[in-house]
Amino acid sequence: MDKYFSGFRHHGPFEATIGNEKVYYSCSESWLDADRSCTIRCKAGATFSYAKTIGIEEKEVESFNSFVEATLGSEHIASLKSHIEAETSREFTLKRTETEKDEFTFPAPGCGRQTYFLYQLVRDHQITVEKQRWGGLAKPLITSASLREKTSNFDVREEVDRNDRACPCPAATDAGPADVLRFQIGNLSLRVDCYEENDRSLSVMIGRHTLKAQPVDPEVRDGQYRMPIVSRQLPELFWNLSGIRKKNIEVEASLKDFALSTVARIFSEGTVVSQVEAEASFLTSKL
Ligand SMILES: [Zn+2]
Repeated sequence: MDKYFSGFRHHGPFEATIGNEKVYYSCSESWLDADRSCTIRCKAGATFSYAKTIGIEEKEVESFNSFVEATLGSEHIASLKSHIEAETSREFTLKRTETEKDEFTFPAPGCGRQTYFLYQLVRDHQITVEKQRWGGLAKPLITSASLREKTSNFDVREEVDRNDRACPCPAATDAGPADVLRFQIGNLSLRVDCYEENDRSLSVMIGRHTLKAQPVDPEVRDGQYRMPIVSRQLPELFWNLSGIRKKNIEVEASLKDFALSTVARIFSEGTVVSQVEAEASFLTSKL
C-alpha cells in the first residue's frame, strides 16, 4: 500500500515532565512538492537531475541543541529523545543533512506521453519547554524550538496519456486512463494512471515497460491488486529512491483514493489541532 496522503498529519501534543520542567512535543507530516517534474514522450526520452537531501540542516540541529541545553540541561537530552520515541513509536535522531546529486535517464516510452512529479515526506517537529521558576512562585518561562526533517520517503505521481497529440504514430484513440493505481516499492510510493484491460487486469506504463496488475480476488471488485515488478525495468530514479535491491518483487496495489479517507482524518485531527491551540492559549494565559 502506498504511504501517500494529502494535507497534513498531526501527532501530539504529548506532554512530559523532564527534570523539573514541563515539555510538550508535537509533529506534523506533509508531502512536499520537490518541484521536480519530468516528461517523456514517444521517441523522446529525458535526463533528469536531482539533488536528494535527507536529514536536518546543520544550523537547525545546532540551535536545537543549544535550546535543549538552555532549557532542560544537556544531561536530559537522552530522556527527551526516549520520550519522543515512546510517543511516536519512531526513532528520533538529529541526523545532519546529506545531499546526493544524481542524473537519471528516462528512456522514451513505447508510445504516448508520461509525466512524473516528485514529492518528499517532511516532518516538522516542535518542542515547547515550560521552565519552572522559584518552585512555581514566579511565572514559568515558555520557549519553543522547531526542526524540519527531510525523510527518505518519496512519492511519484505519474500521469499517462496514450493519445498524446505530439505522438508521431498514427493516432490511437481510447477513453484515457481509468483510474489511479497506488503502490509502494521500498521507500517510494507511486500513484500511476492506469488503463483497464479486457481481462479485468490493469495496465500501467512506466518508462518503456507496461506492467500488469491482477485483481487479488477476481470475484469481488474491491480495488485490490497484485503486481509483479522486475525492478531493473523501472527508471533509474525509482530504483534509487526506493532503496530496493531485489530483482523481482511483487507489490500490493490499490485503487482506493486515500485523499478521500484523509478528509475524514483531517476532520478528526481538527480536534487535535484545536487541542494544540487550546494548549497554546492555556500556556499564554499563564504568562
Ligand atoms: Zn507514438
